[in-house]
Amino acid sequence: MARYTGPVCRLCRRFGEKLMLKGERCPSAKCPLEKRTTPPGGRSQRRGRNVISDRGLQLREKQKVRFSYGVLERQFRRFFAEAKKGPGTSGENLLILLERRLDNTVYRLGFADSRAQARQIVRHGHMIVNGRKTDIPSFLVKAGDTICWRDTSKKNEYYKRIAEEIEERTIPNWLSLDKEKMTGRVASLPTRDDIEAGFNEKAVVEFYAR
Ligand code: SF4
Repeated sequence: MARYTGPVCRLCRRFGEKLMLKGERCPSAKCPLEKRTTPPGGRSQRRGRNVISDRGLQLREKQKVRFSYGVLERQFRRFFAEAKKGPGTSGENLLILLERRLDNTVYRLGFADSRAQARQIVRHGHMIVNGRKTDIPSFLVKAGDTICWRDTSKKNEYYKRIAEEIEERTIPNWLSLDKEKMTGRVASLPTRDDIEAGFNEKAVVEFYAR
């Protein structure tokens, strides 16, 4: 299944909640969900087709997590297979694996306004992990890893803007950030508490259990 390339706000309307896919617009009053919470295709909703089966709810939760992290279905299944091998619950393991992705880490460090933007920054080779250029968004960070910008990338207007705004950004407990040097560090692996509470990972596990 291809990556979703349509209007991302439509996804939030479909799920009826903010997935924070559009950067600085999301927490602002410009977010369409501040004014309208009806799902797209409201007509069919009015015709009473909005009764969702258990399977439908599980699919919906799976899609919500997948779209939030911007991961393709095939890759998402691979992450799930990996999550099943680890100790603990598969659902939590899945979320933790997704959270450890380099593109998500760059986003969480405040180096990007959205995960989609972070993915682009990584793909374009702007990030250095442990002293090596790393341009794979799905690269999994581990405790002790350092993430910084390539020297040549620091000349970009984008970098300058982010460096100016970094003071206002808050980062999760599992990461630390030297704001002067714009260098992040993975202080420890993320836990379930560091991840959006709105995800129902149990439903995702049930979806793949069939
Ligand atoms: Fe979702 Fe952000 Fe669009 Fe609001 S602005 S609907 S949170 S993507």
